[in-house]
Amino acid sequence: MTSLLLRGGHVYAAQDPFATAMLVADGRIAWIGDDEGASVYSADAESVIDLRGAFVAPAFVDAHVHLTSTGLTLTGLDLSGVVSAGDALARIASAAQATSGVLIGHGWDESAWPEGRPPSRVELDACVGDTAVYLSRVDVHSALASSALRALAPTARSQDGWSEEGPLARAAHHLVRDAAFSAITDEQRRSAQRAALATAASRGIASVHENAGPTISSELDLRDALQLGAEPDMPEVIGYWGSLGAVELARDLGARGAAGDLFVDGSIGSHTACLTRPYSDLDPPSLGAAYLTADEVAGHVVEATRAGIQAGFHVIGDGASHIVMSGLSQACDALGAAALRSARHRLEHLEMPSASHLATLADLGVVASVQPAFDAAWGGDSGMYATRLGVERARQLNPFAPMLRAGVVLAFGSDAPVTPLDPWGSVRAASRHTQPGHSISSRAAFAAHTRGGRRAARDEGVQPGVLIVGAPATFAVWAPGPLTVQAPDGRVSAWSTDPRSGTPPLPDLDAGQPVCWRTVRDGVMIYDSGDLP
Ligand SMILES: [Zn+2]
Repeated sequence: MTSLLLRGGHVYAAQDPFATAMLVADGRIAWIGDDEGASVYSADAESVIDLRGAFVAPAFVDAHVHLTSTGLTLTGLDLSGVVSAGDALARIASAAQATSGVLIGHGWDESAWPEGRPPSRVELDACVGDTAVYLSRVDVHSALASSALRALAPTARSQDGWSEEGPLARAAHHLVRDAAFSAITDEQRRSAQRAALATAASRGIASVHENAGPTISSELDLRDALQLGAEPDMPEVIGYWGSLGAVELARDLGARGAAGDLFVDGSIGSHTACLTRPYSDLDPPSLGAAYLTADEVAGHVVEATRAGIQAGFHVIGDGASHIVMSGLSQACDALGAAALRSARHRLEHLEMPSASHLATLADLGVVASVQPAFDAAWGGDSGMYATRLGVERARQLNPFAPMLRAGVVLAFGSDAPVTPLDPWGSVRAASRHTQPGHSISSRAAFAAHTRGGRRAARDEGVQPGVLIVGAPATFAVWAPGPLTVQAPDGRVSAWSTDPRSGTPPLPDLDAGQPVCWRTVRDGVMIYDSGDLP
């Protein structure tokens, strides 16, 4: 039996709010208690670690990632800090000089640039010559492409979303992106995935949900990601394959569900989220895009439910929510609510649900896989959502508190590379929502980023995602710092820091970003900062 005793810290365990020590044996939690109790085990444990006041908590689950494109942004050209179109061109030019194959970049956001627009194709060509260049916008729903890359996807020209000079969107964008990603080598792809997983582990994440699909990655890409996640010293990778009706294929690929980025619509930033009322900043008026019908949604849910695997969709606008809800109702009529509940279907993003949508989702046991960092990036009365939708509608977005009150299970994710792998940032964003009425407590947010992700993946067993005896020893150790209990409105309530309340505290996020010292998956170390003895 391999055993490890941690003592002298703070252990985040609901059963024992004052725990300071934890024993791990054979990949599972064997005991939790205080230092006095730990002395019983210290003689027999193979190793004993003095935590020196560090904080031990369940490792995070990121319920929505794209490993390859995240990794390519880590290993490729990062345009996220760019301040103007001219600045972008200068960085692209120097990266193109250093690139032999296709140049991949990500993260530009023209909304705050003085030019108010991204570089044109002609400007891009002038600085990269005949290099194939693919540069996705921060929301990944549109991209700039050089002429050399466009030539690799000749059919894109006749597709929806094509532009001779500007960014490509929708179908044209997908064809050009496919061409770019198939131009990277297998080695480039694997090292990108490895880089993304290593970064996840260094931020206390021990499990990611890879949202793959034919329009966003490839079968080979998903197989590689699952293989990497099967290595014991890597974060776990749970795969989703987002393709209509592809239930058998999802199963063959080893995916947990025919779910994830199965697109009902696009994104608000790219004006492709499906709305019931037109965008506020478009003339002629537009309701965005709808890629699936309610009948198609229903058919997919029925097929997946019958096969016993999860179905799910990417749904952002209120129009897309309507489509999904009516599809779910049809599926419910066909199979009954109990069948749908046991399949535990899931929806990605779900930024504009109505109260009645939330009631339906709670009733059918559908998990909402949401991204609090979206609100931090684009919410508020002067943010991108307000520009696209008007202040009134923007204030309704990402209603986390109403979602929890309705009984919907929340799972948090980053949608990396759309926002960074930053789980504490997501906890902070959810507990300090731009609309105070939508904020949830840090504790609820932390649960959504740990146990919520396990539930979203139908991870059964002994309470995965919490520290409890018998559960997998999957946890992270965080550098010592102030701990607190934070109420939904941001108040630190006097009662809850009273030991008698029995509420275990979390890191005080106003005191700075917690620093990860170690991440452990099923008893195996997947990240070590070197700070623990
Ligand atoms: Zn996604």
